[in-house]
Amino acid sequence: EKADIGLIGLGVMGANLALNIAEKGYRVAVYNRTTEKTHEFHENAGEFKERIIPCDTLEQLVGSIRAPRPIILMIKAGDPVDQETKALKPLLMRDDIIIDAGNANFHDTVRRLNSLGADDPTFVGMGVSGGEEGARHGPSIMVGGTKEAYDRISPVLTAISAKYEGEPCSALLGPDGAGHFVKTIHNGIEYADMQMIAEVYGILRDGLGLSAPAIGSVFSKWNDGPLNSYLIEITAKVLLAVDPDTGKAAVDVILDSAGQKGTGRWSAIEAQMLGIPATGIEAAVAARSLSALKSERQVAEKAYPSGAAALSPEDRARFIDDLEQGLLAGKIAAYAQGFAVMAGASKEYEWDLPLATIARIWRAGCIIRSQFLDVIAEAFDKGSPENLLLAPAFIERMTKGSAALRNVVSTAALSGLPVPALSSALSYFDGYRQARGTANLIQAQRDFFGAHGFKRLDREGDFHGPWSDMG
Ligand code: NDP
Repeated sequence: EKADIGLIGLGVMGANLALNIAEKGYRVAVYNRTTEKTHEFHENAGEFKERIIPCDTLEQLVGSIRAPRPIILMIKAGDPVDQETKALKPLLMRDDIIIDAGNANFHDTVRRLNSLGADDPTFVGMGVSGGEEGARHGPSIMVGGTKEAYDRISPVLTAISAKYEGEPCSALLGPDGAGHFVKTIHNGIEYADMQMIAEVYGILRDGLGLSAPAIGSVFSKWNDGPLNSYLIEITAKVLLAVDPDTGKAAVDVILDSAGQKGTGRWSAIEAQMLGIPATGIEAAVAARSLSALKSERQVAEKAYPSGAAALSPEDRARFIDDLEQGLLAGKIAAYAQGFAVMAGASKEYEWDLPLATIARIWRAGCIIRSQFLDVIAEAFDKGSPENLLLAPAFIERMTKGSAALRNVVSTAALSGLPVPALSSALSYFDGYRQARGTANLIQAQRDFFGAHGFKRLDREGDFHGPWSDMG
């Protein structure tokens, strides 16, 4: 019996996705560049072994799938996807579908689609989030492609996706690069979310002098409130974990230098290219880059001994409440920015991205999953706010949260503790809600040195300032 679907790439994500597909009753043919992995995977597939067809060559893979064939690529993003697509093309027919499920840059997805000829197979760019667990038991799936292609693969995608109160977290979000773009912004928001959590951890550790398990308890409590989310939950777990070798808190033996693979950076770059402010994401990417300068930071700490003043214990309980509310406010600003970037891209590329649906399919399966996304989905359902900060549900939350965020950011600044993402969120909020900003001065400066002209508040037209005689 032939397979319903093929899958190339049995790394962490691919292997788990294949098991997920088989568990849902589909037959899946699998292929991996390194052949031993294919057989090892099949040997260890347990109860799903019968529904998995291991293949040593692409020819064998293609021959094992019932036509028209959907084939998922779950391999390293970039050049490998071009190589595999090139190798597959001559083996496939027009009705077959290549589904790139890796973290592709959406520009590559658009390029790959545009390079296909009329008789080539269809190409679908699909973002998958949820890490290893998600791939195995239900990820959030963000698809870019044609409706025809999606309709054909949606039964299996719906079956393997995460469910939020029964609703599948898989959707067609737009044509060509839309799915990979949304996945990229998902990761950008994830960067901002993680960074703000890390900043709050820093305040609790270095400002209040709390131990890792004590901070873990704080996060654990917060997970029962409005901050309830997967990231807060795992932060609490991580902080409570003990290193088996030393008996110390696990986080206390981990090098403070963060890795990054590109999606956060791409989010910041795309936001910049679209001219949409996404300062939380930018701050988070820059913070990871700063974290990587470990040896420079060690020298700098000697040159500028810390002025960090410990926070007074009397304020502790109230301040911890402010940290919770402030973190929520920062999160609202960062999500508002992420959704604004998607709205901007939607306009620019004429994708018509369904923002409420995006919030819905992020409620389960993905790394930024939370109930908070349900509130976002509702806000987009009720109207199409230009920015989430203008949605009634968020005006209320932000009014309360911004006061707490202000206290957190100012206290951190006075104590010499870095809060780049939280402070950028606060400045974004303050800038956004200021009807009369300061760019009138920027326009005057630009006109002074470059004769760029400016508009006036009181008259239509383009004007120059009275500085021609000023040199
Ligand atoms: P792994 O490193 O675990 O596996 C990489 C896979 O890619 C292997 O099957 C490897 O084959 C294959 N591969 C690498 N280079 C080539 C090549 N030149 N030609 C053919 N195959 C190649 O990666 P992951 O499973 O973590 O990631 C796969 C994709 O999913 C990536 O795009 C990643 O960004 C994305 N992703 C990862 C998430 C995660 O949490 N890990 C979450 C969401 C998306 P071989 O065994 O022969 O080396």
